[in-house]
Amino acid sequence: MKYSFSFLSICILSFIIVFSCSTEEEESVAPVVQTPQPEPEPVEYTLTVSAAEGGTVSTEGGTYDEGTEVTITATPSEGYRFTGWEGNTSTEESLTITLNSNQTYQALFELIPIYTLTITTGEGGTVSTEGGEYEEGTEVEVTATPNEGYRFDGWEGNDSTNESLTITLNSNQTYQALFQLTNPLAALDVSALEYIESSEDFKFYYNISNNLPAAWIEEFKSIMNYLNNIIPVKSRVSSTPRDGKSEMHIFSWTSIEESPFKETIGDASGACICGNQYGRYMLLEINNNEFIYNHNHRFLVIVHEYFHAFQLNASENETPTKLKFLMEGAAATLESFYSKQYFNENYFISAQSNVTNNAVNSPQLFEERGVTEFNYADSVFIFLSLVKELQIKNGLTQIEALKKVYVEWWQSGREGVNKEILFEEVFGFSLEGFYESLKSYSPDIETVLPSGNITMEEIFEDL
Ligand SMILES: [Zn+2]
Repeated sequence: MKYSFSFLSICILSFIIVFSCSTEEEESVAPVVQTPQPEPEPVEYTLTVSAAEGGTVSTEGGTYDEGTEVTITATPSEGYRFTGWEGNTSTEESLTITLNSNQTYQALFELIPIYTLTITTGEGGTVSTEGGEYEEGTEVEVTATPNEGYRFDGWEGNDSTNESLTITLNSNQTYQALFQLTNPLAALDVSALEYIESSEDFKFYYNISNNLPAAWIEEFKSIMNYLNNIIPVKSRVSSTPRDGKSEMHIFSWTSIEESPFKETIGDASGACICGNQYGRYMLLEINNNEFIYNHNHRFLVIVHEYFHAFQLNASENETPTKLKFLMEGAAATLESFYSKQYFNENYFISAQSNVTNNAVNSPQLFEERGVTEFNYADSVFIFLSLVKELQIKNGLTQIEALKKVYVEWWQSGREGVNKEILFEEVFGFSLEGFYESLKSYSPDIETVLPSGNITMEEIFEDL
């Protein structure tokens, strides 16, 4: 029973305490009057957006409710670039703003700097661009291309050894493509050389060894002047430097000295219009015996090689097939015409009379250089026989016939025409028919010699 009593006591006591507390509160606080609550006015903020010089912004802002998100975008005008925002540290062109206060932003721009790129070339090549004005940061690729006979040799203004250079414009820049000659012929300094120029603008440059007798050098120049006058070499468009189409170097020395021109033409020797991968030139290495024995060949070789230069350039298009009896036959017979006219020597008889049976029986052997002949005697014979045939079959005068073989043949060349067609076109009978006629000739130079006093001026009067 003791427990029951205590529980009851606590309950009663608790009731009294609670009751008395609530009584006290009701007596001290005034009653609240209940009226309907109005919606709270939304808070508004002002956004002000502007653009400095050099661009625009997507909005100028306005008044927005608190918490509104507004995206503003800056766009630079041409020639300007965006640099940032006044009022914000972002460097992005688009900015999203949450309106929790009045805010002001300005988009900032600056002029993009313009830089000048200047690209030049030294002698011997070209560049893909000469440069110009570019906005800062522009990448420009430039490529240097050497001309034929030159190689690329680096850049002035850059250490690159590459022919292509990518340049980023962060300042004004200047570069020069440098080239080096790889062609020793083209590298020859012509400014100090004596030369002659034909009425057709073709130039021969003289590279003459001092070891040649002064009298020979004088005669050489005199013969060159003479030939240049009556048989002017035509100047054609050159595709490589010194390819013999518009100018040609003549290298001359005596056989008893070492060639003084090795640096340019290597071990080339003898007499020829010859060349290497760099171009064509004339070699006149004069055999020393010809000085000792006063052999006229030391001068006639000039006439011979000169005429080859004429032959090679006479045709506007392609050089006709170089039938040996027409090529060498012409150059060799011209030696004899010159010899008769200026040295009073019948060189046909003294040097070119060793005609073989091949000349009449197998003339086709002398279309090419395979068969050895003595001083081109067989070619000379076939050449003079052709002059005769032109008179007999076509009724031409001797001079007319000589003009055909010396000049017209060499002027007639054109692309894509073979020797048979061209031969018949120029001479009026077939190559085969001509060979057939030769069978009735005897291989004797005396039987085909030109008659009378033919002068070179007559043969070449129309040039
Ligand atoms: Zn020759």
